[in-house]
Amino acid sequence: MKGYKTLNPLSIVEQEYSDTLHDNSACKVKITKALIELADLLRYKGEIETNDVYLGSSGIGIISETEPNFFGLEKGKRVYIDPYRQCDECYNCKNGEHLKCSNLLSAGEDFNGYLANFTSCDTNKVYLLPDSVSDLDALFVGHIALALTIIDKLNVQKGDYVVVTGGNTLANILSQLIIYYQAVPIYLSTSDSETTLAKNSGIYYVLDGNDNWIKEVSTITGGRMAEKVVFCSDSSITAAKIFTLVSYNATVIFTGVYHNTTSFSFVKAIKKQSNILCVNNGFGNTAAAINLLANKAVSLSHFNVPICKYDEVPTQFKKLNDEFDKTGCFMETLVEI
Ligand SMILES: [Zn+2]
Repeated sequence: MKGYKTLNPLSIVEQEYSDTLHDNSACKVKITKALIELADLLRYKGEIETNDVYLGSSGIGIISETEPNFFGLEKGKRVYIDPYRQCDECYNCKNGEHLKCSNLLSAGEDFNGYLANFTSCDTNKVYLLPDSVSDLDALFVGHIALALTIIDKLNVQKGDYVVVTGGNTLANILSQLIIYYQAVPIYLSTSDSETTLAKNSGIYYVLDGNDNWIKEVSTITGGRMAEKVVFCSDSSITAAKIFTLVSYNATVIFTGVYHNTTSFSFVKAIKKQSNILCVNNGFGNTAAAINLLANKAVSLSHFNVPICKYDEVPTQFKKLNDEFDKTGCFMETLVEI
């Protein structure tokens, strides 16, 4: 078993282990593709603290070993591997409420991730992929699951306007899902490439850095302003800017992994009595996300996802790091393993 780790900021190394299944693991997966995500880049930069584990939160592969008699999970089946594990130690876990685990563990951070050639895990952490879901689509299941959690927390209803900021892959996927649920996303980004991608993805209200956002949001919402807002912290848009767009008593979701722009004054939020909620993951929504992909609720066909080989991973991290420092933009990379 081999894979990539970052033990010091801005360095990445390949390490090998003896290839054994853990005691509590019932299946072993040969990983075929993984995704380099923003969280991986931030781990590489040293901005997210990471255990001595392989990087990579999103991976798919083929079952190579499993105990007999697990329903449908046979050797050779293509699967998505869940990036989350409950801690089994907190109050909620001990009371059987694993979905409310207060110390949720993430692949690539707390335990070995999927920028590796093999992984072993419990059978309830792998999900069979239907033939209609492509490998590329499957690697974004985590984004879709997170978007589903956000939609659920916002209680999105038919006809609702939802302001989505951040301009990244999550913001795009979330906006597509908001349309799928018959509501209306208003997508805000200061990046030309991201607003173009959003328009190509079928999102109608796309505001860029040249638009007067307060005026436009007021016009679109008939003067009510935004009652439901998602603030993805992974962009140059500040939280303070968001609170100029919200209505009285609006619901504002904070999400994202990059927090350098999150510092802000609560004055506007308090004056408008905003309801601020935080969403960190899509734990529990993996099966629903795969089902949405099978139903073509989200299309990634306009995403120009770069592809690299396993051996090129260190070079690709350096390239992504340079681009991020220069432009503040990030696009996931598919790694063929
Ligand atoms: Zn727990």
